Amino acid sequence: MVDQLRHFEDVKALAAARQAEVTVAFDLQQRREQAAAGVPAGEQGAGVGAQVALARRESPARGGRLLGLARALTGMPRTAAAFRSGRLNEWRTTLIVRETVCLSVEDRAGVDEELAPDTGTFDGAGDRAIISAVKAAAYRRDPRSVAKRASHAVNERTVSLRPAPDTMARVTALLPVAQGVAVYAALVKEADTLRAAGDERGKGQIMADTLIERATGIECGVSSIEIQLVMTDRTLLQGDSEPARLTGYGTVPAEWARRVALEELTEDVTTWVRRLYTEPGTDDLVAMDSKARLFPPGLRRFIQVRDDVCRTPYCDAPIRHDDHIIPWHKDGFTSAGNGQGLCEACNHTKETPGWSAKPLPLPGTRHTVRLKTPTGHTYTSTAPPLPGTRWRGTAEKKPSVQVLGHAGPSQAYRLAR
Ligand SMILES: [Zn+2]
Repeated sequence: MVDQLRHFEDVKALAAARQAEVTVAFDLQQRREQAAAGVPAGEQGAGVGAQVALARRESPARGGRLLGLARALTGMPRTAAAFRSGRLNEWRTTLIVRETVCLSVEDRAGVDEELAPDTGTFDGAGDRAIISAVKAAAYRRDPRSVAKRASHAVNERTVSLRPAPDTMARVTALLPVAQGVAVYAALVKEADTLRAAGDERGKGQIMADTLIERATGIECGVSSIEIQLVMTDRTLLQGDSEPARLTGYGTVPAEWARRVALEELTEDVTTWVRRLYTEPGTDDLVAMDSKARLFPPGLRRFIQVRDDVCRTPYCDAPIRHDDHIIPWHKDGFTSAGNGQGLCEACNHTKETPGWSAKPLPLPGTRHTVRLKTPTGHTYTSTAPPLPGTRWRGTAEKKPSVQVLGHAGPSQAYRLAR
């Protein structure tokens, strides 16, 4: 069994190495086709990473990284050989390439030759050992470009949100080191000051509360900011235990959602309840259409609730654009059926020549979009289930249910407090 484990590990590495080779060939072929179609040189290669992602069942962001890895590997034959033989798996190969991306093609090839991973240089080495060995070799070849990369990193500063267990969330800020230290020091100082004055909260608690207060500008942090909690009427009004969904976060327990909606917030916080209707049998959300070109606010909100995150398969990114699945200039309607939420990158990809999409009115399923790539491959995206409904594959579709009338989502009412 141990021999089998090793054998399949080698098979995985070989398959991944072959995928990298195919990826490079595919990239070249797509660029040739785009050039022939008159796409300007600077725009050639657009959408290739997205196609790699769809084929490999990965997010577009990861597809782009896999494409970058594959292309860089062509200039590193000894690393590629170690990859094929299983001496390096896909992740470790990625580490080596990542530490050399700032180098010129010649220097990268030089590092490859110096380290010669195909001779067993990294046998038994951990991830960190590999990173420092490659970093050192890269720095010896071209200290200036390594330093330039560090100064370039400041452009990567950003803030992101990830769910944590027990209805908590991690807000992460990637900051230049001086500002990062300053933010932390300011929070520590505030905590020390308040605790010295008799505040009984823990240091970490005060730091967290201060961060919320200073970032949102108000004490409890949510009054002027809209958060969207989607739940069934049974959960809201009848004490049902079906979990709710907090847009941008994910699943939250029923009791927590009820507390937030009904009790916990202070006097000056307004809670709005919007009724959403689903088609019986299909669980698809029902909405009104609009004659305007731009999605009116009610419809935008509706699409965000229905789609939750970017609709491209495997892409988890937050929605940034309300997209006409069939474009407005091709007579696409401004409707819930022809609308989808996309992230910025996926929206650009969809505009690339050779890509197309259309809503797929499949009986018995939630809102479905078919995406067609330049090679003619098609992928379908079905809206995620709403609270109170279940994930299910398209393979086990329920029989169609005809719906004759529908109600709009726009009736909003204020909860009696
Ligand atoms: Zn996306």
